[in-house]
Amino acid sequence: MAEGNPLNEPTTGQIVREGTMKAPFPTATWKDKYLWCELRRQDPSKRPAPERIGDSREIYDLFDEQTVMEQASRCIQCAMPYCTIGCPLGNRIPEWLGLTAEGRFLEAAAVSRSTSNLPEICSRICPQERLCESMCTLNEKSEPVPIGAIEKFINEYAFAHEAIHAHRVMPNGHKIAVVGSGPGGIACADELALRGYDVTVFEALPIAGGLLVNGIPPFKLDRSIVNRRLNLLERRGVRIRVNTRVGRDIAFEDLQRDYEAIFLAIGALKPKPLDIPGANLRGVIQALTYLMEKNLGAQSLVPPIPVEGKRVVVLGGGDTAMDCLRASIRAHAKEALCLYRRDLANMPGSRKEYKNALEEGAVFHFLTNPLELIGDANGEVREVRCIRMELGEPDAKGRRKPHPVPGSEHLVPADVVLIAYGFDPIPFPPESGLSQIRVNEWGGVIVDENNMTSIPGVFAGGDLVRGANLAAFAARDGRKTAESMHRYLVQRGIPGPSA
Ligand SMILES: Cc1cc2nc3c(=O)[nH]c(=O)nc-3n(C[C@H](O)[C@H](O)[C@H](O)COP(=O)(O)OP(=O)(O)OC[C@H]3O[C@@H](n4cnc5c(N)ncnc54)[C@H](O)[C@@H]3O)c2cc1C
Repeated sequence: MAEGNPLNEPTTGQIVREGTMKAPFPTATWKDKYLWCELRRQDPSKRPAPERIGDSREIYDLFDEQTVMEQASRCIQCAMPYCTIGCPLGNRIPEWLGLTAEGRFLEAAAVSRSTSNLPEICSRICPQERLCESMCTLNEKSEPVPIGAIEKFINEYAFAHEAIHAHRVMPNGHKIAVVGSGPGGIACADELALRGYDVTVFEALPIAGGLLVNGIPPFKLDRSIVNRRLNLLERRGVRIRVNTRVGRDIAFEDLQRDYEAIFLAIGALKPKPLDIPGANLRGVIQALTYLMEKNLGAQSLVPPIPVEGKRVVVLGGGDTAMDCLRASIRAHAKEALCLYRRDLANMPGSRKEYKNALEEGAVFHFLTNPLELIGDANGEVREVRCIRMELGEPDAKGRRKPHPVPGSEHLVPADVVLIAYGFDPIPFPPESGLSQIRVNEWGGVIVDENNMTSIPGVFAGGDLVRGANLAAFAARDGRKTAESMHRYLVQRGIPGPSA
């Protein structure tokens, strides 16, 4: 296994020339169907919790070459690759596992890049246990192949060997605007640049990357990894204009005039409100505001939110809640406590991140719902009045609805309360042409099967269409939209011969 390694880069000593590694067993190749009987699943080592809470660096090491080959060789190459079906991007997982098992890491990485514009990012943050790995056939008999960790290895290997091209393709002379620089915008801009389009990405914030940098903490995804991807995008010819909010700093109508098509990937960044008494007390903070401050420090637009020595209570049970707990522990909170109204089995947050949070000292009170936030004479939050819940029958979506247990009210002390109840799209400004775009009841943009909105030539995807979701789905929308935009423009006779 790789030793502790700050950015999880492969060290020189671990790297051997393509194709020179020996297969795990002298007689075995990846085509052997039963290697999984002899080889247990192994995950990359993690830095010990006491060490990792002392900094904000990523916590997982990278596999070494021998281990990655062994683990990839556990794939049984089944006729129906369910892992591919479980992947939002339809990644050709068995193909790159087979190549990895043979030590052909650069070829494996090339196959992985053929369906994903940010595999080194998705491999770090996708909840694989709910996606590809949950569908692995080995689940029936053993443990799944560690697909995410292998994807991360091969792509880091390709970066370390400078095997990822950054050249520009022949321009086709046509301009497209991408609004938002999160995974949806990145994937779409990348695909369009590869087709020769002149692409400008407009980003409202001073730092590009969307929630990959503003929301997701560096201990899950180091900022340098996102910057490396953005830098590659720019070297491929994409312009990124930060500090430019469409609808405020630049009119949507100007984009319609100056660009032949527009992709809106502006996410869902409006926090769902906390609708109980005391929600306006000082010390009650929206999760994303808190995480932006913790992730970006002095570079964030948010003033410092000190939690050192304080009791932090997080409301909610999704990935954002896990991130708040772990960020609070790293910011030296005295306590980081999660209140969630359902039980662990019904909690939406990733199990991997839940386990990491537990290891780092977070405490969970399941089946607990806040009724009121109570403040002191200075208007600072001091307690959460809670009630115990029990789960009733499953609702239409199959989730068991929680009901309050009479007489179970109790107080939980709190100096800071973080609200992590999810997000909806921010409504378009009424004075902007954006407001002409049709949206549904929760503000999600309505698109057709080509991801086109109600305005011809204006497309949308990612969280703006799906509601708060996952990076891989946003990337999928970005890729699909690039294809739809190209088809749309070709049908209108716009692109030149190189497109
Ligand atoms: C705390 C947190 C943790 C998460 N953890 C995970 C995880 O572990 N794994 C995972 O897969 N997903 C995770 N997600 C979800 C994931 O980050 C999102 O699903 C994904 O980033 C959505 O991508 P997007 O491109 O649609 O939008 P975003 O990433 O939200 O990017 C939208 C961008 O558009 C910009 N913008 C908004 N309005 C305008 C405008 N008018 N003009 C110009 N720019 C504008 C915004 O500033 C932003 O940068 C997490 C989300 C949060 C909040």
